[in-house]
Amino acid sequence: MNSAMGTGQAIKVSPDQVSVCCRGASDAFGHPAVYLTFAEKPTVRCYYCGCEFKRASNDSGHLQKVD
Ligand SMILES: [Zn+2]
Repeated sequence: MNSAMGTGQAIKVSPDQVSVCCRGASDAFGHPAVYLTFAEKPTVRCYYCGCEFKRASNDSGHLQKVD
């Protein structure tokens, strides 16, 4: 079953991840593995396939780090 099609759905990752690896959605839209870094943003978009990754917040809405 393939019900996860469509754009605009952010892929949630754990809040302590600083980067994600994306290889595309499927065989047809696959691409070389790329590492995307969140930097200071809560989301990052893959420049190959357009997938959006979003950090999930696991504490009460306060995950901005200031140094
Ligand atoms: Zn991608």
